[in-house]
Amino acid sequence: MVVDLHVHTSASSKCSELEPGDMILRARSSGLDAVAVTEHGTIHGARVARDLGLEMGFTVFLGVEVYTPGGDILVFGVEEELLPDMAFDELHDLVGRKGGMMVLAHPARGYWGHRRKYKGLPPREVLGRVDAVEVLNGGCSYHENVLANRMASEYGLPQVGGSDAHAPGELGRCVTVFPRRAESMEELIAMVKGGECRAAYLEEALARSALARYGVAFGAGEAKET
Ligand SMILES: [Zn+2]
Ligand SMILES: [Zn+2]
Repeated sequence: MVVDLHVHTSASSKCSELEPGDMILRARSSGLDAVAVTEHGTIHGARVARDLGLEMGFTVFLGVEVYTPGGDILVFGVEEELLPDMAFDELHDLVGRKGGMMVLAHPARGYWGHRRKYKGLPPREVLGRVDAVEVLNGGCSYHENVLANRMASEYGLPQVGGSDAHAPGELGRCVTVFPRRAESMEELIAMVKGGECRAAYLEEALARSALARYGVAFGAGEAKET
């Protein structure tokens, strides 16, 4: 399953030009199996897109991107509204209580927070407390993504990818590949937390799954990718 885990739509993100219905049509035609909508500080847009997805037969997972002094955090598995800007500890406690998941987004981009409030790299202790790191972000440079990959590797954290799309052409720039379909948020979270995922560029992910159908394997388990 190929999923863009970091998408902003115009339903809730004023900064996005990506209209939810158009996003779903584009996601499907580009070969994505699902997307996660992660608006800034609200789950509303994700709900709008998820409901449209149900009508259109396309899977949309609910997420939200929360600004914290520890980094921009993609939160999954928490369906209630969160504040757009939260203390890292407070968010960590809440997500923990709900059995959700925290992904540190674009950790090496050099800035984060509302209006680029924080500069530099997130505090290192945050890496010891998140569930995964976004090591391929569509808005980051190659070198920023390489550094994010090193940060995740150093802490042995699962690695995911997402486009951070704010415009139609940006959807699917980076993706997360799973060895099987997640039928629910719980399954998606379990696969990420268990490290059953990898970050990829969409073209590479699609090329590999096409070859896998012909039995060409690239590594343990990858021939089974769907
Ligand atoms: Zn962000
Ligand atoms: Zn974002």
